[in-house]
Amino acid sequence: ETEIAGVSIAVLQDFAGREARRFARANPKSLKACGEIARHYLSGVPMHWMSDWPMPHLAVIARAEGAVIEDIDGHKIDDFCLGDTGSMFGHSPAPVARAIRKQARKGLTYMLPSGAAAEAGRLLSERFGAMHWQIATTATDANRFAIRVARAVTGRPKILVFNGCYHGTVDDVMVELRGGVTASREGLLGQVADLTLGAVCVEFNDLAAVEAALATGEVAAVLTEPVMTNSCMVLPAPGFHDGLRALCSRYGALLMIDETHTLSSGLGGYTGVHGLSPDIFVVGKCVAGGMPTAVWGLNEATARAYAKANEARLSGHSGMGTTLSANPMQFACLSANLAEVMTAKAYARMEKGAARLQAGLAKAITAANAPWHVARVGARVEFICAPEPLKNGSEAALAHHHPVEAALHVALLNRGSLIAPFHNMMLVSPVTTKKQIDRLIAGFTEALSDLFP
Ligand code: PMP
Repeated sequence: ETEIAGVSIAVLQDFAGREARRFARANPKSLKACGEIARHYLSGVPMHWMSDWPMPHLAVIARAEGAVIEDIDGHKIDDFCLGDTGSMFGHSPAPVARAIRKQARKGLTYMLPSGAAAEAGRLLSERFGAMHWQIATTATDANRFAIRVARAVTGRPKILVFNGCYHGTVDDVMVELRGGVTASREGLLGQVADLTLGAVCVEFNDLAAVEAALATGEVAAVLTEPVMTNSCMVLPAPGFHDGLRALCSRYGALLMIDETHTLSSGLGGYTGVHGLSPDIFVVGKCVAGGMPTAVWGLNEATARAYAKANEARLSGHSGMGTTLSANPMQFACLSANLAEVMTAKAYARMEKGAARLQAGLAKAITAANAPWHVARVGARVEFICAPEPLKNGSEAALAHHHPVEAALHVALLNRGSLIAPFHNMMLVSPVTTKKQIDRLIAGFTEALSDLFP
């Protein structure tokens, strides 16, 4: 093979080496700080995902504000990663920062609600539809808790997920399709259970396969993102969501929508914009403006079924919670973010900026004659190093070309733009400027002209 994703391997090696050296030259202070950090942490990083960035060493951050992140070498970088969605509305949005300062004087965690809990609950239902809410701290936890409820109320064991999905570190659904059969995901460290007893996997956009799985009567819930955002970006085919809703209703399974990333779609997430009607709704990451917070909600019928399932329990263990969840800092930040940051006006800016970015990247791809494409769900843009369209997780897996993507990410950072590791994701926040977007497009265009000479 002489090419990866249309890029000559010889050209790529030259490009990657040049960009890596350029990064190393420009970041001596970060290099030194990384050495000091590494002494104290397992595998040299405080959280192992940090070792997945493609630079020769990490950039160590001094501060971030709005859509700009500044490293200790003094580079002001346009941040399109935004904490991989945690800061999708910009770093430290002013209303959230104010709420934090105010609450900081009044205690951080009580295991009792604050007065702001009522306001936060009202705003959650206003934004996402009337639900019976619970507060968690991570989207992982919210999904895990909601999965328990789905099994409890249906009395069925399995959760149906789509091949290539990601819903956090939820072991229960770490399955994939292998040779057309559900299997535990490859490389799961320390997992000993047979996950196929509690999960079934089919391809996204394949309603016939969904129906076949539901027809077994074993499925408690279908858990899905509205758009697959963790497998490149796979858009739903027309009618797919209507089909899912109808099939879940017909076979008595719950429809569980995880909006953690697709909150980028607009007010109320993809569910709000496209009128989905989930039984269980989950969203995390940026829902409280960057304060670790996630929420999960049950619609009326599911909440009633949950109450009944609880009544039927003989002994008194109410299940799994997490001690620091639903703390007053979360309520303060949720209220501030939902009321003042995550607004229709903010989404209009995000949409406009993201459309500009999508068009600019697509133009660069066409100019370079690269066999690539760009996909978008609201403020979330992704370039994909394969021709379009991707229909499912299997096609998405084949569209990942790590060596090309890694080199390109470093090249973009050298040109002042940070995009998400793992995939080619860029977020446009309400405070991302046109100038920042144009700089990213220019960097991408320049890099592509090197990769496709
Ligand atoms: N759901 C989706 C769709 C996600 O993409 C993620 C994380 N990338 C999660 C849940 C889990 O979020 P967290 O890591 O904050 O628990």
